[in-house]
Amino acid sequence: MIAKPTPPRRPRWRSLALLALCLTPLLWPLHHLAERYYQDQLASQNRQTLDLYVANLLGTLHRYETLPQILGEMPALRTVLADPLKLEAVTNANRLLKDIVQQTGAEVMYLMDVRGNTLAASNWDKHDSFAGRNFAFRPYFNEAMDGRLGRFFGQGTTSAKRGYFFAAAVRDRERIVGVLVVKVDLDHTETLWGRTPEQLLLTDHNGVVILTSRPDWRFRATRALTEAERQAIIAIQPYPTQAPQPLALNPNAWLTQTRDIKETGWQVSILAPRMLVDRSVQTVMAIGGAVLLVLMLLAGLVMQRRRHYIDRIDFEARGRQELENRVAQRTADLEGLNTRLKSAVLERENAQQELVRAQDELVQAGKLSVLGTMSASISHELNQPLAAIRSYAENAEILLDHQRTEDARGNLKLIGELTGRMASIIAHLRAFARRDRHAPESVALQPALDDALALLAKRRRAMAVELTRDLPDATLWVQAGETRLRQVLGNLLANALDALTEKANPRRLWLSAETREGYVYLYIRDNGPGFSRQALEHAKEPFFTTKTRTQGLGLGLAICESLMRALGGELLLANHPEGGALLTLQLRMAAPGANLQPTEDPSA
Ligand code: ADP
Repeated sequence: MIAKPTPPRRPRWRSLALLALCLTPLLWPLHHLAERYYQDQLASQNRQTLDLYVANLLGTLHRYETLPQILGEMPALRTVLADPLKLEAVTNANRLLKDIVQQTGAEVMYLMDVRGNTLAASNWDKHDSFAGRNFAFRPYFNEAMDGRLGRFFGQGTTSAKRGYFFAAAVRDRERIVGVLVVKVDLDHTETLWGRTPEQLLLTDHNGVVILTSRPDWRFRATRALTEAERQAIIAIQPYPTQAPQPLALNPNAWLTQTRDIKETGWQVSILAPRMLVDRSVQTVMAIGGAVLLVLMLLAGLVMQRRRHYIDRIDFEARGRQELENRVAQRTADLEGLNTRLKSAVLERENAQQELVRAQDELVQAGKLSVLGTMSASISHELNQPLAAIRSYAENAEILLDHQRTEDARGNLKLIGELTGRMASIIAHLRAFARRDRHAPESVALQPALDDALALLAKRRRAMAVELTRDLPDATLWVQAGETRLRQVLGNLLANALDALTEKANPRRLWLSAETREGYVYLYIRDNGPGFSRQALEHAKEPFFTTKTRTQGLGLGLAICESLMRALGGELLLANHPEGGALLTLQLRMAAPGANLQPTEDPSA
């Protein structure tokens, strides 16, 4: 059987690449989710930081908010306002303010008259002392003079330090006699921030950065300034520069969260570099990619296992198929054989039936043959003695006419003998028909032959047949029945004469005998035409004859054969090399008998 060709395999890497292509889109939602997650994480963290920072800032500011109003009530300061030229009072006020600054942690405190001149200051003994300076241009002064709490952020024009200013009016009853200012240092709030990747951005109402963890962003405008704002900046000088440069931040580089501080009009922003999120997302993506890779490898492994499994199944299926085919082939062969056997058996059965039928027919034919043999034999065998009796009777008539009574008596005696012989023949035929066989007895061959010859003597002479007898003088004893042997011999001799009628003179008949190996062989030879090939094959069969119906019935040799077999002898037909028929009678030798007379009881 030819193995089924295996289909060409697709390269495995191509399947894997295809799988990877299918799985890769899974990374996109992963990226999205990771980004969202880390952004949220960062945002919540930053929110807390921002809240903390704002709370801290507001706490710092609130601490000093009410201070100017309270301090304005102090008599030492009022004394200065009442008489600014009184040096002792000024010195006392300066010392008082310095003490309070040290106690409260404020940066500077100072007292101004209603024109904005600084009369006393906590930093009176420093080189950048506010004493004697005029701050009427600052908005907090005007606000305080209006009876409100003055608030202001700005870089000190003297100290160059940033600070938040609270200012409150000092009243003498309802009249404003001066302004007390507390400056809070905000520089340290920047240092609180520390060195984190997140950046702080505090912008004022102008959108200008006033506090930041990045020094290069300081005093830069996060938005475009209006003309009015620009003028105001020039006027009140809150920043070291009069024209703040814009701050251009890449919105993609930063994740910004902002909180408004209403009471100051500020905005605090915390800016986290997007890189932080990106780095985490990249880590997640790397892990995701690795997982994908592992999945792909696993899938590859599974595919390989599956392929092996399929291959094995395929192999087994092919083997099974092959086996099935072989079994089917063998079954078909067996079925064919079976069919042939069946037909052979059928043929055999038919042949058997045919045989049985043929046997039936043969039995039937045999019966007919025996019947024919019997009836035909009777007439055939009786005709010869009848013809002899007739000729003896006619002869006796003539002899009586001539008064030769003695001769006539002889003829009558012969007639008597012949009728006795006829009775014997009939009895024998009857016995033959009954399958009633006599046990073979010792019979002398020569006398039997003589008797047979005597029966045919007249015809032989008429035909001028030359007889040559070459028989031993000593009597040859054979196992036979007297009558049956004579019957056989008569038949054979009559056939020889029949054959010789077809031949012109000289007609010859040879009789010879020999003894060999317990058998006596009697040879009857003529110089007639001999047996034809067909006659040689079929002459012993009943009713085979080459003669006309009136001449022959084809029973002579059949009867002879049957008689010879019954006697344990054999009749052999042949042609003599020099022409003519040669018949051989093979008879068992017998012990010499006592009587030469027929002993078979014809009536038996
Ligand atoms: P029938 O004499 O009635 O024909 P047989 O059985 O005696 O029947 O002989 C059968 C045939 O054998 C004969 O018809 C003849 O052809 C052949 N036959 C017998 N004897 C001889 C013989 N001596 N020579 C030639 N043919 C013979």
